[in-house]
Amino acid sequence: MAKSIFHTSENQNTYLYDIRSRLSMLVHPDLKIAAEETGEVDSYYRGKYGYLKNCGFFKEGESVKFGEITESMIRDSLIHTPQITFETTDFCNLNCTYCSFGELYEGFDERNHKNIDIDFAKKLLRFVFNNRPESKKQKLLIGFYGGEPLFNGKFILQIVDFVDQLKKEKYIEVEYNITTNALLLHKYMDFFVKNRFRILISLDGNRKNHSYRSVRKDGNNSFDRVIENVDRMQYLYPVYFEKYVRFNAVLHDRNSVKEIQEFVYERYHKVSRIAPLVMVDLNKKNEVVAQKMYRNKLESEIDFQKEESELLPTVHEEFSVFKELIDFLKYYSLNYYVSNITSLLYETEKILPTSTCLPGQKKILLTTHGKLLPCERVNYKYTIGEIREDVVLNIPEITVRYKHYYHHVQKICQHCFLNRFCNNCMLQLKMLDQVDKKDFVCEHFCNDKGLMYKLYRVLSFLEKYPLDFFKIVENHVIL
Ligand code: SF4
Ligand code: SF4
Repeated sequence: MAKSIFHTSENQNTYLYDIRSRLSMLVHPDLKIAAEETGEVDSYYRGKYGYLKNCGFFKEGESVKFGEITESMIRDSLIHTPQITFETTDFCNLNCTYCSFGELYEGFDERNHKNIDIDFAKKLLRFVFNNRPESKKQKLLIGFYGGEPLFNGKFILQIVDFVDQLKKEKYIEVEYNITTNALLLHKYMDFFVKNRFRILISLDGNRKNHSYRSVRKDGNNSFDRVIENVDRMQYLYPVYFEKYVRFNAVLHDRNSVKEIQEFVYERYHKVSRIAPLVMVDLNKKNEVVAQKMYRNKLESEIDFQKEESELLPTVHEEFSVFKELIDFLKYYSLNYYVSNITSLLYETEKILPTSTCLPGQKKILLTTHGKLLPCERVNYKYTIGEIREDVVLNIPEITVRYKHYYHHVQKICQHCFLNRFCNNCMLQLKMLDQVDKKDFVCEHFCNDKGLMYKLYRVLSFLEKYPLDFFKIVENHVIL
């Protein structure tokens, strides 16, 4: 695998990027000609090429030395988890066509109007409280997810009450969050405001945009009921609304990035988060339906950017390329050493393949069936434990399983140009079940052309918005 690659930008500038050192340089195009010996160039560029070669550029890259996962790493991340999320109920009062627990998908436990067991939830909370040091600084996040969590609002009230009791024994700063379709929001507004809940409301844009989100009972579009509740909350609690309420939309064939952002901003003065339709764990029978509904987020953003919209500067930081630029400046560029200074001391970096979190490192999800999962975005077969009489975490078994995945996946990652900066979770790879088979592939695998295109995209964006550099370094690199 080559260590240094040339790439261009939209403005036809030429750059040299060195993977090993994470150095990106604006260079004269003749340096590329000198390096590739494709024509006659001034001796200055041949000399410069020779100099860079002596400094270690252009050599074949050595293979990455991936690190090893250990039992103690897993134990540590599990018992110090920063977040617990409860699958409050598996029931939802909406019946969205693209629901990840609906007909389009597989890989989740059967949905049969099951509410979470409050005793299991209390056991998990007690376990986490017992293992954490008393602290006002290190917050514990407690999240409520579903189904529609407000369908089991009683559970949420009980948990907040229980946490208040636990906090009397050991003070730990707790913050709550909830993801809701807002159909029952009117019943819990005061409670949320009192307990400073961060609320993420699912709203796909205007009435037409939102039409896949139908009410289970009558099949009608839920738009009017959602809007009525959200408007009411904004009217009654404007200051709270400003700080604690956010929106999330799913992108599909009935909306676009432009329509979503225009609607949410005009009505609520907020920039919505937008997620594309999930295309893993699709049910084979309905794959075609999902593909028909799917809309590519990057393409929809590009369409939006072509328009003369006054909203563009406001939503700028929500664009995928802006986020890609954050990644680039944080992990692919020399700025990496600002936040990882000790890595300069080592000859070889030891990283784990992919960007999968260690179990518990980001959160622990407790399901209505008493299973523990690393988050709500992965197939339910990737359990990391369960709650019965007690919290059961089979750390040796989890370690063996993750080692098995890492051992095999790294054979592919070794040849991938993103292997030092991969941001894919292996538990979301389509073929992880076949990781030890010959025909295993990673759908995100990136060759030199892929990396060149990525760098083209990111550097073109940076050339267009140079001030983003300072904003990102200040807000995301130097923390
Ligand atoms: S998607 Fe993967 S990396 Fe992200 S929180 Fe879930 S398990 Fe961790
Ligand atoms: S994109 Fe796929 S192959 Fe490449 S490093 Fe990430 S997980 Fe490995």
